[in-house]
Amino acid sequence: MHLAESSWTDIRDADADLAVLPVGSTEQHGPHAPLGVDFMTAEAIAEEGAKRYSEEAPNEAVVAPTIPVGIAEEHRDFEGTLWVSEDTFRSYVRETIESLAHHGLDRVVVVNGHGGNVDALRELCGRVTRDETAYAVPFTWFDAVATEEMGHGGPAETSFMRYLRPELVHEDRTEAAAEDGADSWGEWLHGTNLTYDSAEFTDSGAVGDPRNGDAELGEELFEESADALADLLDAVETRARPN
Ligand SMILES: [Zn+2]
Repeated sequence: MHLAESSWTDIRDADADLAVLPVGSTEQHGPHAPLGVDFMTAEAIAEEGAKRYSEEAPNEAVVAPTIPVGIAEEHRDFEGTLWVSEDTFRSYVRETIESLAHHGLDRVVVVNGHGGNVDALRELCGRVTRDETAYAVPFTWFDAVATEEMGHGGPAETSFMRYLRPELVHEDRTEAAAEDGADSWGEWLHGTNLTYDSAEFTDSGAVGDPRNGDAELGEELFEESADALADLLDAVETRARPN
């Protein structure tokens, strides 16, 4: 069930304690893909994973509203990219989890679609868990599935969007995205990334060749991610509290 589409009495009567919280980013994904890729993928996986889990479980998982802006200053040179500071993001997501927990939704899986959010999510989920406010873990879909090099606006994400929202993918711009893009993320020397902003190493904003992959690959990524999330929800629901 969706929290935002339910009434407060529905939430009260549902007697649920498990919530999924989709988190993404609004940031450039090359000239061919929409700025909302990271929160659209996270939201779709959160909804489907919760649905699959709820079919088998005694109580439904509640899908919380999506948080669409994350840690993405690295894409600031590309128009439309939005970001908040790491501190703001950590506080915002943590306090959102605390409000879920206030209503008894105190087992939370944060479903993430953006690499830049990973470290902060791990930290804030650890904080609320150690504080005994909630048991929370972050799930980043592309860490859960067998993707080739993840890239950025590359084959995996572009294929996912070809499956999820094909009308938002501009196939006629993928060649330019690849030609003015990069093969890998950053410029590395002795294990050190010399760059901070993506514009330093990709002119189109893309990393990886979006001409590779298709809607079928996108569907596979979606299916695998949703199954992995349903499985994780079961583990989070049944796991004894760490404290
Ligand atoms: Zn992305």
